[in-house]
Amino acid sequence: MTSNKGIIIVVSGFSGAGKGTIMKELTGRYDRYALSVSATTRDPRPGEVNGREYFFVSNEEFEKLIAEDGLIEHAGYVDHYYGTPRKFVEDKLKEGKDVILEIEIQGALQIKKQYGDAVLLFVMPPSAKELKKRLTGRGTESSQVIDERLKRAREEAVGIENYDYIVINDDLDECVIRVHEIIDAAHNAPSRNLDFINTIRKELNEL
Ligand code: 5GP
Repeated sequence: MTSNKGIIIVVSGFSGAGKGTIMKELTGRYDRYALSVSATTRDPRPGEVNGREYFFVSNEEFEKLIAEDGLIEHAGYVDHYYGTPRKFVEDKLKEGKDVILEIEIQGALQIKKQYGDAVLLFVMPPSAKELKKRLTGRGTESSQVIDERLKRAREEAVGIENYDYIVINDDLDECVIRVHEIIDAAHNAPSRNLDFINTIRKELNEL
């Protein structure tokens, strides 16, 4: 019986790489995952619901969350703040759930520092051309925002080596299975199964 203690799974990827879709699919298929809902100061996009995609808050509310130590990480991204509420993550880990944080690289690195056993995944598009096509195709952002995101993607591409795994999002279904397998494998790391290993050692000595 391998470890069923919850793990923090950080998922990053360029805007438009499809990480949101992968995560929705993953959490819909398996109930061992809990998807963290971040707080942000940006405005909701059409169709986004407060408390579902994000908690949409004012700058003042965001600063209050930071002051109260209510966020486990936070970062600025294209003129706005984003952060992960602490309570949800801690509660779900206690319940034994794997908690998925869909966050950008600055936040990912803060998480790695605090939670050494977090697993960091970076979702890549099959090509840069495909990324631009997906960003433009979404049709919800102005060309200025798209340009900012491409600039940011170039910056984020520099930090990918800090992640534990890359996942190429060519086919959604295959990608979801691959992410699930990576997380499954992480549960089998010896460092997460010391109780089990020690039990077997003890039993061997008693044979
Ligand atoms: P978007 O505005 O497109 O929803 O998100 C912009 C970026 O912010 C994405 O890369 C997303 O992963 C990241 N992001 C969303 N929530 C958080 C958060 O709580 N913390 C950090 N550091 N980044 C976040």
